[in-house]
Amino acid sequence: MTRRVAILGSTGSIGVNTLDVIRAHPDRFNVAALTAGKQIDRLVEQCIEFQPAIAVVSEADDAKRLEALLRQKNIATQVMHGPSSLVAAVTDSDCDTVMAAIVGAAGLVPALAAAKAGKRVLLANKEALVMSGNLFMHAISAGGGELLPIDSEHNAIFQCLPNNFTKESSPQNAYLGVEELWLTASGGPFRNTPLEQLSNITPEQACAHPNWVMGRKISVDSATMMNKGLEVIEAFWLFGLPLEKIKVLIHPQSVVHSMVRYRDGSVLAQMGQPDMRTPIAYGLAWPERIAAGVPSLSLTQLANLSFSEPDLSRFPCLSLAFAAAKTGGTAPTVLNAANEIAVAAFLDEGLPYLQIPVVVEKTLNAIAIEGADSLDTILHVDAQARKVTRELIQAL
Ligand code: NAD
Ligand code: MG
Repeated sequence: MTRRVAILGSTGSIGVNTLDVIRAHPDRFNVAALTAGKQIDRLVEQCIEFQPAIAVVSEADDAKRLEALLRQKNIATQVMHGPSSLVAAVTDSDCDTVMAAIVGAAGLVPALAAAKAGKRVLLANKEALVMSGNLFMHAISAGGGELLPIDSEHNAIFQCLPNNFTKESSPQNAYLGVEELWLTASGGPFRNTPLEQLSNITPEQACAHPNWVMGRKISVDSATMMNKGLEVIEAFWLFGLPLEKIKVLIHPQSVVHSMVRYRDGSVLAQMGQPDMRTPIAYGLAWPERIAAGVPSLSLTQLANLSFSEPDLSRFPCLSLAFAAAKTGGTAPTVLNAANEIAVAAFLDEGLPYLQIPVVVEKTLNAIAIEGADSLDTILHVDAQARKVTRELIQAL
């Protein structure tokens, strides 16, 4: 069977890696839809190469430009724009598989649409699940599709769980003997930086991740370890284990991508190069395995693999995420929204690095937490939190 793949966020780091895997397997995959925010030049090249049925950009002017460029090349791709067209890319393109790789809350509505429509959802956009975990997991079961985690840690855990493990915490899972999930974290570029030097961190320093090449927002999240906090919440929804059974371990080499500890003393780990094409290829071809273009791992060339507990005083964002996860309801939505605004302000407006956790915490304290029962509530709280964080930043 040829899979027809829609890629939400095709011009980003995950999107480009997804197309790289697809390019190597033209017999297995074709591209149904591509979407981008603002990177029109890259999207033009992608449309010329993969000729999707639908392409979506954010702005009307960009859509006009894209359409003109494609017609010059005799490419018939239908060009659309705006947030509602992201949903159309998923529902109207005749795709069966959706890579959800838009960064941040902007990816929630189309990812949810893919879940409801019963697609195979390859989830990179962790913020979507953090905001709407309960709703999202219900949409997957109601839609009758599949959810495969692309985040490397969750993909690793998925690979290490028994085949018949289901996300519902059923007696059957107890029988399968899964005790704990261990999420590994590199600790980012500032794992050993003296704390007094953190006040002068620049965006370039924060985005220079030691092991992974990623988009700018997730790179900053890796530096603050908010990324790992979001991933704990992501794991909670994906795998249905209680929060206290989801642990974080610092592992600077990024070789062990995560682990599952079993009752009998076994710990299963998934290892590999830090290259997102491995989890992407796994999700695209599951339950088969295909070449991903990733060099094989040489354990003899690695000096050592080390593991340690995270230092929460160095990474206050991780504590804030643990607390929001415990509170539940809309707390993770507020955490995520405040973090998106704070990180954008750090990257583009000179908000000091150390103010990121401060404004996130203040936002969490300023907003009453409610149940995250409907998309309307989630989107309302998301907007409210963004407004509060912006005001806090302006007042600094
Ligand atoms: P990126 O910034 O490189 O790419 C983001 C993509 O989303 C781009 O195509 C961009 O055009 C699009 N986009 C951004 N804002 C948009 C908007 N408002 N409307 C429509 N499209 C918009 O980010 P990335 O590193 O590829 O990360 C994407 C997602 O995958 C994030 O949620 C991230 O946490 C997750 N993820 C990434 C990696 C990685 O290695 N890059 C690893 C694990 C998880
Ligand atoms: Mg990850």
